[in-house]
Amino acid sequence: MTKEKDKRHIAILGSTGSIGTQALDVIAANTERFVVEVLTAQSNAVLLIEQALRFKPNCVVIGDESKFAQVKDALWSADVKVYAGKEALAQVVEMESIDIVLTALVGFAGLEPTIRAIKAGKHIALANKETLVVAGELVTALARQHAVNIYPVDSEHSAIFQCLAGEWNNPIEKIYLTASGGPFRGRSIEELAKVTKAQALKHPNWDMGAKITIDSASLMNKGLEVIEAKWLFQLKPEQIDVIVHPQSIIHSIVQFTDGSMKAQMGLPDMKLPIQYAIAYPERIYADFPRFNFMNYPSLTFEQPDRKSFRCLDLAFEAMHRGGNAPCVLNGANEIAVKLFLEEKIGFLQIPEVVEHAMNSVPFIEKPVLQDYFESDAAARASAASASLGHR
Ligand code: NDP
Ligand code: MG
Repeated sequence: MTKEKDKRHIAILGSTGSIGTQALDVIAANTERFVVEVLTAQSNAVLLIEQALRFKPNCVVIGDESKFAQVKDALWSADVKVYAGKEALAQVVEMESIDIVLTALVGFAGLEPTIRAIKAGKHIALANKETLVVAGELVTALARQHAVNIYPVDSEHSAIFQCLAGEWNNPIEKIYLTASGGPFRGRSIEELAKVTKAQALKHPNWDMGAKITIDSASLMNKGLEVIEAKWLFQLKPEQIDVIVHPQSIIHSIVQFTDGSMKAQMGLPDMKLPIQYAIAYPERIYADFPRFNFMNYPSLTFEQPDRKSFRCLDLAFEAMHRGGNAPCVLNGANEIAVKLFLEEKIGFLQIPEVVEHAMNSVPFIEKPVLQDYFESDAAARASAASASLGHR
């Protein structure tokens, strides 16, 4: 049996979400390798308590401070420390006993705890792509400075990472990020004007949290992933391309300078990239269903429809502009998605609201950390005011 100290000690930020719960499934199937040190949630106290009683972490954090007493009371006899609030979330990642922090929380809220974890020398299993979109330059530089590895959890980036194993010295010519195209692939602008929240929340291939599901429907998710890939793999914008692959079997592709292409494939299941990130460099056994060629006699590819799904080009534009532009794109998009989920704006207003913020928040070429907080706030304010015109 593996000794406690030889196991990987993991903090899961956002353990009650889609990625967080699947990460706990992976850990439950591999208790000889992994120990849960920290679990956190924003407001789902009931599930956080249930997870804490089952996995016995060192501590838990509930973001919503009004739920502190509920969590504390439920865990008083379980020898689990309980904290609440944003600052506690940023502090717990520094705990000595943690080896790796899985950032499975959603949005800009991931930035601060990720930076604190890197500064404390913790390796990062990164699901929270928004952190790299907002401040990729700063975060990757910090990771180099503190000799911290960032292991991608996003399936496309995990695919690229897996294709690069053994190729560290070989230059990449190009990468292709695959996109399912989401639930509205093939729809015209006129049809997109009428789509509902319920339709947008039904992704054909993946079962994910609400925010990323809407981002997948608008193709903003792919745009965010393009920026995420730029920073993770230190690429130039022109080295990144997107191809729609509706079956979601090929998770992404690397093309090397000799023209050879490597792709990683398998049935769509986020548990695989989660497991690869936390077990790296080992591949451990998993009983996930295996791909069967006969069930997929044809794998198809097409160009994304950039005219109807404008978010993709807005993200490319933000990447080309650089500086605080991706941060503004992200902040405005978070507000636009929230308003769409509240049924206050229509689907086609998402890119309009984002574009408005990109054109109105002042550009900063070389932002420092404080600039990101200010640009995010300005983008949110701009997006909220732009959306008022649509209500
Ligand atoms: P979910 O919405 O399912 O879960 C989000 C988690 O973060 C929950 O535990 C939630 O707590 C917590 N949380 C929400 N807001 C805050 C906040 N402001 N501060 C602290 N914690 C917060 O999201 P997903 O699991 O779908 O996504 C998580 C991240 O992973 C995102 O960045 C997403 O883009 C990325 N990702 C997700 C994939 C997927 O398949 N789901 C695939 C690839 C990437 P509570 O439950 O209490 O609200
Ligand atoms: Mg992805």
